[in-house]
Amino acid sequence: MQDNVLLTSIEFLKGVGPKRAELLKQEAGIFRYIDLLNYFPFRYIDKSKFYNISDINDEQTYVQLKAKIIAINELGVGRKKRLSVKVEDDTSEIELVWFKGVKWIKPNLHAGQTYIIFGRPARFGKGWNIAHPEIEVYNPEAPVGGKFQPVYHSTEKLSNSGLNSRGIEKIIATLLPLIEPHLENHLSNEIIQKHALYSRRNSYKYIHAPQNTEQAQKASFTLKFEELFFLQMNLLKQKQIVEKKIKGHVFESVGSHFNDFFHNHLPFELTSAQKRVVKEIRKDLASGRQMNRLLQGDVGSGKTLVALLICLMAADNGFQSCIMAPTEILAQQHYTTIRDFLKNMNINVALLTGSTKQKERTEIHENLQNGNTHILIGTHALLEDVVSYKNLGLAVVDEQHRFGVAQRAKLWRKNVLPPHMLIMTATPIPRTLAMTFYGDLDTSVIDELPPGRKPIKTIHQYDSSRLKVFGFLEQELEKGRQIYIVYPLIEESEKLNYKDLTDGFESISRRFPLPKYRVGIVHGRMKPEDKDYEMKQFTEGKTHLLVSTTVIEVGVNVPNASVMVIESAEKFGLSQLHQLRGRVGRGAEQSYCILMTDVKLTSDARKRLDTMVRTNDGFEISEVDLKLRGPGDIMGTRQSGILDLKIADLSRDSHIVTLARSEAFELLSKDENLELPQHATMRQELIRQMKNSPNWSRIS
Ligand code: ADP
Ligand code: MG
Repeated sequence: MQDNVLLTSIEFLKGVGPKRAELLKQEAGIFRYIDLLNYFPFRYIDKSKFYNISDINDEQTYVQLKAKIIAINELGVGRKKRLSVKVEDDTSEIELVWFKGVKWIKPNLHAGQTYIIFGRPARFGKGWNIAHPEIEVYNPEAPVGGKFQPVYHSTEKLSNSGLNSRGIEKIIATLLPLIEPHLENHLSNEIIQKHALYSRRNSYKYIHAPQNTEQAQKASFTLKFEELFFLQMNLLKQKQIVEKKIKGHVFESVGSHFNDFFHNHLPFELTSAQKRVVKEIRKDLASGRQMNRLLQGDVGSGKTLVALLICLMAADNGFQSCIMAPTEILAQQHYTTIRDFLKNMNINVALLTGSTKQKERTEIHENLQNGNTHILIGTHALLEDVVSYKNLGLAVVDEQHRFGVAQRAKLWRKNVLPPHMLIMTATPIPRTLAMTFYGDLDTSVIDELPPGRKPIKTIHQYDSSRLKVFGFLEQELEKGRQIYIVYPLIEESEKLNYKDLTDGFESISRRFPLPKYRVGIVHGRMKPEDKDYEMKQFTEGKTHLLVSTTVIEVGVNVPNASVMVIESAEKFGLSQLHQLRGRVGRGAEQSYCILMTDVKLTSDARKRLDTMVRTNDGFEISEVDLKLRGPGDIMGTRQSGILDLKIADLSRDSHIVTLARSEAFELLSKDENLELPQHATMRQELIRQMKNSPNWSRIS
């Protein structure tokens, strides 16, 4: 339990009062003592280290100086008025300038006095100056705030009421001794010792008022570990509860459908990764509890086939299955692929999407209810209330990133016992995010591509080399290959997208004219029938080049397509680029991905392009993506509640996430309900956090 003192309203802290309390609430979300305690500094200034002015060069972003004021001047007039202050140390001199707040700064500055100055030097003429530095009188006897000073975020309003970084530091210094006696450890002594952590008391003390870098780091490590540890305990506990409570259909046998397919109709050997994953899933299905499994596998790794095998297993045990895809094109493609695989078998497959005609729809519903249909493939149309099964035993969700939590939950209501869930994604999720966002799911990974695939060659080209690129495309077309050319979707302007796309289509058609070449076009504004028609033309090799928006992003499978040209590639995110690239390299031919960009690129865009050129490894790409974008963007803001971490950062602290998870796992396997006396504090804290947290289990 949280001690009540920690929940005291912030206005009662000495030095705060009602007015500042209101500002703290509005500007920084600080309502109670505990919130202030958790308001952490974002960096520290080592007040014991000073730069020589003569050493200033282009290398340092910030410097701290100890220097004496030798001149104070107000220069310029009107809006150009500025305060110029010359300071010197034993080595050289430098100018400090203020353009704003001169009236307020000037009275505090006195020629002949020595100051500590902190700021970012910039070249100015022949020398250097520092604009708007932090400045305070140097006092050798009692350096204010210790030698190692925390820096807190503040805002203009807070600063105006005296709560700049130093002001915040002061009220925290008032708070710390007050609440120290109330900060009991949550973690057990055993864990604290094992990982050489601080006590909770010391970690708060040293994160706010360390004497050196080591203390600050250890304090930060302790607080991050504790935060992530309870997060993982929470997830693992939820998972445990689901496993205990939610019974699942038992698929006991691998029967004739599965075996017949495996031995007589499967056109190739499974990769060892596919075999391993099928085994993992089979174990779940026989266990008597409901499966909730995330299947990760890079584009082209053969997830669809795994899904099909599992569907056959369901059929062998008298159950129906469904496979949900995020788009019509994909659903259609799954349907075609699976029907093709099963063409000589006695398994009924149906397709249900938004564009299925009413008459056909009624028929499908009937066949589902009387059990004639074994496998239903479709889009979110599968989630409509009218769709009911005789006995749905398995639901496969492809590309779950596009399926919301609520939609997934809908599947559950359709049965007494929930179906087993297999969620497939080709967007590799960095390990730490997977552990956090899907920490309540089991995961399987297909980390191997079918044999014979040559790694895709990725090339970055500027728009100016377009003629050369066209020449290359021509060579590939001569070899009988097909080509995708993708244009970005600009969210602000649908009109503009369409124009880019049609302009592109026209120039491609001019360069690759009829009757020798056929160019197709696909985009989101087309009617589903037209889209399907165009896709089919390309799939069947009747069109040679396909100009499109990102509608082809996920899942489309045309093995003869060997070149992916991505226009304005700088406008795409990493995971999208990787997905698009995954559309080629599906056959035995050498494939290429050509990233076209303008010469002007931001440094982030350059990093994305370099990463794409360097590697084909989806997991490596996802780690770079996480560093560039942060977890909030990757997982979508809707689930951002989970990201309400106070101190840990999922993109930087992955090693602590791993450590916390394995520690939590070990603890729960030793003492499942934390009943041992030495675990009592952890139990209390976990119960408190579980009460306060949103429901983590994304499926239930
Ligand atoms: P994913 O859905 O993981 O992106 P797919 O299931 O679409 O990948 O598979 C990509 C291609 O590889 C398909 O043409 C599929 O038939 C083929 N494939 C799948 N597994 C194997 C295998 N073990 N050996 C050879 N080809 C395979
Ligand atoms: Mg797929």
